[in-house]
Amino acid sequence: MVDSISQDVLIIGSGLAGLRAAISSAATNEKLEIAVVSKVQVMRSHSVSAEGGTAAVLFEEEGDNQESHIYDTIKGSDFLADQDVAERLVHDTPYEIYQLDHWGMPWSRRNDGRIDQRNFGGYSFPRATYAQDKVGFYEMQTLYDTSLRFDNIRFYNEWFCTSILSDENSFQGVTAIEMKTGNFFKLLAPAGIICTGGAGRIYSFSTYAYSSTPDGLDMAYRAGIGLKDMEFVQFHPTGILPSGILITEGARGEGGYLVNSEGERFMKKYAPEKLELASRDIVSRAMIREIQQGRGFKHESGADCLKLDLTHLGADRIKERLAGIRDIGIKFSGVDVIDDPIEITPVCHYMMGGIHTNIEGASEMRGLWAAGEAACNSVHGANRLGANSTSECLVWGRITGENAARYASSSKAASVAVSPQQVLEEEKRIYDGIFRGSGEVNPYQLRRDLTDIMDAKAHVFRDEEGLQEGLRKVMALKSSSWKHVDDKAKEYNTNFINVMEIDSMLRIADIVLMGALSRQESRGAHARTDYPRRDDVNFLKHTLAYYGMQPKLAWHPVTITRYAPTERKY
Ligand SMILES: Cc1cc2nc3c(=O)[nH]c(=O)nc-3n(C[C@H](O)[C@H](O)[C@H](O)COP(=O)(O)OP(=O)(O)OC[C@H]3O[C@@H](n4cnc5c(N)ncnc54)[C@H](O)[C@@H]3O)c2cc1C
Repeated sequence: MVDSISQDVLIIGSGLAGLRAAISSAATNEKLEIAVVSKVQVMRSHSVSAEGGTAAVLFEEEGDNQESHIYDTIKGSDFLADQDVAERLVHDTPYEIYQLDHWGMPWSRRNDGRIDQRNFGGYSFPRATYAQDKVGFYEMQTLYDTSLRFDNIRFYNEWFCTSILSDENSFQGVTAIEMKTGNFFKLLAPAGIICTGGAGRIYSFSTYAYSSTPDGLDMAYRAGIGLKDMEFVQFHPTGILPSGILITEGARGEGGYLVNSEGERFMKKYAPEKLELASRDIVSRAMIREIQQGRGFKHESGADCLKLDLTHLGADRIKERLAGIRDIGIKFSGVDVIDDPIEITPVCHYMMGGIHTNIEGASEMRGLWAAGEAACNSVHGANRLGANSTSECLVWGRITGENAARYASSSKAASVAVSPQQVLEEEKRIYDGIFRGSGEVNPYQLRRDLTDIMDAKAHVFRDEEGLQEGLRKVMALKSSSWKHVDDKAKEYNTNFINVMEIDSMLRIADIVLMGALSRQESRGAHARTDYPRRDDVNFLKHTLAYYGMQPKLAWHPVTITRYAPTERKY
């Protein structure tokens, strides 16, 4: 008999999206019991490492306007964003900035006391609202503190969710393992919100926390919900070597620039107006081209790279506004950016794709929403602008939190009913199929092989041959005998958790590769050398992937409101 715990709203994930959703659910109806489940401690969610800023229009009196933020977002998306969703983001973000301010967020300020904003890539106006270069940490701390004011929010830290429970396509809850005891539970609720973040650890060279694996996406996928636009993976221009840790775009926003081995500020050839502050896909492609044409540097690890020069900014400005990345440079690259340029190269940083939702954050399953990086409401289309993701987490955290709470309070939310068969099948899948599995291949080696394949075959540039080879190699990994857990302990069995994560990584990597193969065009972050042009006639549409032995692909229309697609120039 599996123990069960019942709540009204179940939020999976305690990053920015999950915490914002919890506060908004709890405030919508204080009588509801809200549960926030996270496989890590709250403040270890990847959101704490957001560095550069949160985009919003705050200074209309100084010339900024919402129309411009909307258009920058849509242009940045290479016209794959759903335009009504981009409008919603831009309209709702200023409210979130001031709401955080009222909750105690220590925004960096101008001398006159007003909130400050800095430049970021792809924007026509400085819009990245920042807190030094640790915006995610301060936002998380502010939200966590605020959530503690609500007696109706309960945290389940270090609980690992494994599957969605449903009844006739209505959400009923999830199955989860309490890591401390190793006990298996049903967490039941009529309403759920998936906020499990991005899955950038399917690449080896990545800015993400090690916990950023696709188990949340995979749960939805296995439950029959579509994953959307998964081929669009963002590579950030400035990851340091050898670790891949991020140097925020704020460093270029503050005036830093990129140089090649000839000492040339090469971005002038690729984006004469915006230079280093063109959108990320364009800067990353320019960097790879420079390297391919022999104008890169060699890092001591053997990796190709370019350099980011901040030395002209001066020690005072760097210490005041970029203290975090200075620390990172010293500790992880042995370079003090006050004195020397730092070696950097494009690095996996964000997934535009995720759980298919509509503008309200509703998924295809009744009673289930998704928000934050795990969701794909199509606000970022084929390429996200920096600083728009934390905005998205806040805006759709609030929206989905309200929607889920209203649903849970209404008569539409039928009493929860889970068939014992469903729970039994999940126990079989994870305990018989994974925990008691056997095999010679070391799962950690398989994980490394998988992420190396993604680095090699689904990187900044892709082509048919490479993607096919990637798919063949992933298939070979899948069919090797790897699925087993050596550690048989019950409590805190991280080996078991890791192997479940790897299982999800294989399925989701497959979807990224298949989506990339079927999208025979170049758009935003998806650059096919064999189809170098954007093809609006055949591919101005979203990709959907549904569960099957092989992912089943389908298409979904893009919502165009007022902005006709044009060629992107920066
Ligand atoms: C280094 C870095 C810097 C960034 N800087 C910026 C920036 O300056 N501005 C900006 O706008 N964006 C930035 N981004 C992007 C942005 O930070 C993220 O997209 C965003 O914070 C994601 O938040 P989230 O709430 O969706 O998920 P996350 O913060 O990733 O949290 C995911 C949560 O899901 C939980 N979870 C996952 N799987 C399970 C499971 N199976 N069971 C239980 N719990 C689970 C985790 O425990 C965690 O709590 C940055 C990203 C990185 C990696």
